[in-house]
Amino acid sequence: MTILDGKTVSTEIKDKLKAEVDLLIASGGRTPHLVAVLIGNNPASETYVASKVKACERVGFKSTEYRFKSDVTESFLINQVRMLNEQPDVDGILVQMPLPDHISADKVLETIVPAKDVDGFHPVNVGRMSKNLEAILPATPAGIMELIRWYKIPTEGRHAVVVGKSNIVGMPVSILLSRDAPGGRATVTMTDIYTSKAGKLKEFTLSADILVVAAGVPNLIKADMVREGATVIDVGISRIEDPSRSKGYKIVGDVDYDAVSPKCEFITPVPGGVGPMTIAILLRNTLQTYRERNQLTTPASI
Ligand code: NAD
Repeated sequence: MTILDGKTVSTEIKDKLKAEVDLLIASGGRTPHLVAVLIGNNPASETYVASKVKACERVGFKSTEYRFKSDVTESFLINQVRMLNEQPDVDGILVQMPLPDHISADKVLETIVPAKDVDGFHPVNVGRMSKNLEAILPATPAGIMELIRWYKIPTEGRHAVVVGKSNIVGMPVSILLSRDAPGGRATVTMTDIYTSKAGKLKEFTLSADILVVAAGVPNLIKADMVREGATVIDVGISRIEDPSRSKGYKIVGDVDYDAVSPKCEFITPVPGGVGPMTIAILLRNTLQTYRERNQLTTPASI
């Protein structure tokens, strides 16, 4: 069994990005700039934004946080995003999800100009990705694909089963695994809560060569649901109470790691698997938008 070590791979990606940024700045270029928009004070969102800001510093980007109270109006938020669209020194805009119920995430995300959409959630980028055209790819699915590429895990003609169909993970990773491109060309089955309710989840997961799980349900995938020699990619991140830890909780994935891992050829740990890859790809996306906005023609480092 080999652990898909997202921590190490993401560190290598960040090192390459840092070297590229250092070169850009040494040759008189402007510093790439990511803006994170945070609404309310959801502790998980605070943690995610803090780690994204820290990662920006690590690779030499400028980062700015725009914070709004949870009662901010949708129209005000949309105007703020429009203003960021117009700012020439802003290369990437991310709006941290989830948003309060009175704000439409779709409306806000569609306001971000596709050229600064570093989360890859804008319909233009999703459409381009689906058509296998040059696009900004959503960070978590692209991070999963990068792990698969890094460890040279074959996908062509293999059966990939994806658990969860969200717009940010399950749906886009299914597209990337299935499209006719290196790292894709898999036979993909998408499953969701209705598959479980129909009592059919195990039937599908058991036939997976590659199993990607993004349901947000701790320990959903048990050992008897995975075949010997499978690759298992656990995207889930849930906090569960753990009085033995100083924080009072621990982070777990969707896969019963201790029971499942002995059966796997490859498996991601949680934490330390997909999570750090998501951040590395967000940074890569920001450098991509920077390069495209500045019409840089030198080859990208990664
Ligand atoms: P979501 O709630 O938007 O979607 C969950 C999907 O899982 C839905 O399609 C739902 O039908 C399906 N599902 C739920 N229960 C199921 C069950 N019992 N059986 C089968 N399918 C089931 O979730 P999301 O935003 O895609 O996130 C999923 C998980 O991934 C969460 O734990 C989230 O925190 C985590 N996540 C991690 C990263 C990362 O960087 N590692 C990034 C994004 C999300």
